[in-house]
Amino acid sequence: MNDAANEAYRFLADAMLGRLARWLRMLGYDTWYDAAADDHSLVMRADYERRIVLTRDRHLIEHLRPARVLRIVSDDPLLQLREVVSACRIEAPAACFTRCMVCNTPLQPVSEEEYRLRVPRGLEMPIALVRRCPGCARVYWPGSHTARMLGRLRERFPEWRL
Ligand SMILES: [Zn+2]
Repeated sequence: MNDAANEAYRFLADAMLGRLARWLRMLGYDTWYDAAADDHSLVMRADYERRIVLTRDRHLIEHLRPARVLRIVSDDPLLQLREVVSACRIEAPAACFTRCMVCNTPLQPVSEEEYRLRVPRGLEMPIALVRRCPGCARVYWPGSHTARMLGRLRERFPEWRL
């Protein structure tokens, strides 16, 4: 890890690290990811946008020399997250699920109309807990999937007291 220590962290995950990208987005970190992008354009984008490249690919690091890079070693997405958290000294997030895990856009409150159209009636989910993504129009609310993700995060990062 070179000169990245004091920046507000923004990441770019290479094509092999899609699940790590989702975890970082869940924690609120701006994490660019596109499985179809080639290595050369990844590095150009990262350098231009001052993002830290996350990659397991030694070849990419040695040949394309991104300005900011963290080489990931583990195969397991949550151990990969641990590597990023340790290297960047990331602390407990103030809130999870503030950013779209699919397209990386910060989430917004949902309008009453959208709430009516998108949230199943039987769910009885308070509107204040529902968020929408202005990027891809997905609607998010706390459910079994988010509870499962939070559970795994609590297990692996007990020091965060989530
Ligand atoms: Zn989205």
